[in-house]
Amino acid sequence: MKRIYLDNAATTKLAPEALEAMMPYMTEIYGNPSSPHYFGQQVAAALDKARQQVAGAINAEPGEIIFMSGGTEADNTAIRGIAERYAKKGRHIITTAVEHHAVLHTCKLLERQGYEVTYLPVDEYGMVTVDQVREAMRDDTILVTVMFANNEVGTIMPIPEIGALCRERKVFFHTDAVQAVGHLPIDVKAMNIDMLSMSGHKFHGPKGVGALYVRKGIVLPPLIEGGAQERNRRAGTENVPGIVGMGRAIELACDGLLEKGEKMKLLRDKLIRELPLRIPEIKLNGHPTMRLPNNVNYSIKYIEGESILLMLDLKGIAASSGSACTSGSLDPSHVLLAMGLTHEVAHGSVRMTLSDETTEEDIDYVLEVLPRIAERLRGMSPLYKG
Ligand SMILES: *Cc1c(COP(=O)(O)O)cnc(C)c1O
Repeated sequence: MKRIYLDNAATTKLAPEALEAMMPYMTEIYGNPSSPHYFGQQVAAALDKARQQVAGAINAEPGEIIFMSGGTEADNTAIRGIAERYAKKGRHIITTAVEHHAVLHTCKLLERQGYEVTYLPVDEYGMVTVDQVREAMRDDTILVTVMFANNEVGTIMPIPEIGALCRERKVFFHTDAVQAVGHLPIDVKAMNIDMLSMSGHKFHGPKGVGALYVRKGIVLPPLIEGGAQERNRRAGTENVPGIVGMGRAIELACDGLLEKGEKMKLLRDKLIRELPLRIPEIKLNGHPTMRLPNNVNYSIKYIEGESILLMLDLKGIAASSGSACTSGSLDPSHVLLAMGLTHEVAHGSVRMTLSDETTEEDIDYVLEVLPRIAERLRGMSPLYKG
């Protein structure tokens, strides 16, 4: 059976070029980059190159990039680091209700340690405004952390505006850009971003590797202790093949980024436009235009997202209901609930996230299969009156 992968927000396929770049570092080039001999220095040079590739992709300096295990660790490092270091200045943090759990659960942890967190509500599209951030700011606010783009509904937040506000008020600004890096143009300097999280496996790099950008001059205590790696900012022998692969992958992702985005947008918009013509009573989740080029998220009323996913999978289509982290549990997505959806409508959500390898035939196949599945499931649903 032909299989169509539409779950690129959960993870992406490793780019062959990234694998090729990694291979020598899993075989004959095995030195420890901290060693002063030839074997080590050869590997240290590979890390330098990857650091330049990652920094170049977001207009940062190589010294501002800390390699680590992924997006989750980057979020933890930024938020817990600022909280610890600046506790004397204040203990108030501003975030949004729709962040990834890597941010939300970290904020919950800090609340248990005596910090105060404001979770900004979002509008029906999953958006916060810069005015909401401004109004939430207090004299003891030390950090604003707002995601660049939402992993479930694809809504793109007003990052440059929030960045400008934070810079003016001298409050640190972190953004979880895991869904944005390699998909949207990012300039940390122009956008006044102090810290930014990214993850290799969300842009066709390997899993288990990510990076935190920390603007020069900001000193963060390390989350992981035990060595002087990453200039004392993240201990532990580096995941060398992972870092090399992520460097190559980010370079590839940013090459022709806008063109690839336009191509995905056409397919995204075909799905967004044509699904409601074939399935009555469905609702687009997320912003109609301020939206990741690869994200489609619909609630199909009166049926369960989980049942839709199982039936799509039987037809060879891999999608997600809300987010990979919440599927498997029966709780509806916190993002959809924050956007004001009822539990029932939130339960009926299906997320399809494209890659630049997605074809028009793939989309046409979804347009053929999904309406039939919806009709069948609704036929069995006691809630649906037809
Ligand atoms: C995937 C994801 C993460 C977690 O990244 P990992 O590298 O898998 O730890 C964090 N934030 C967002 C928005 C994500 O989509």
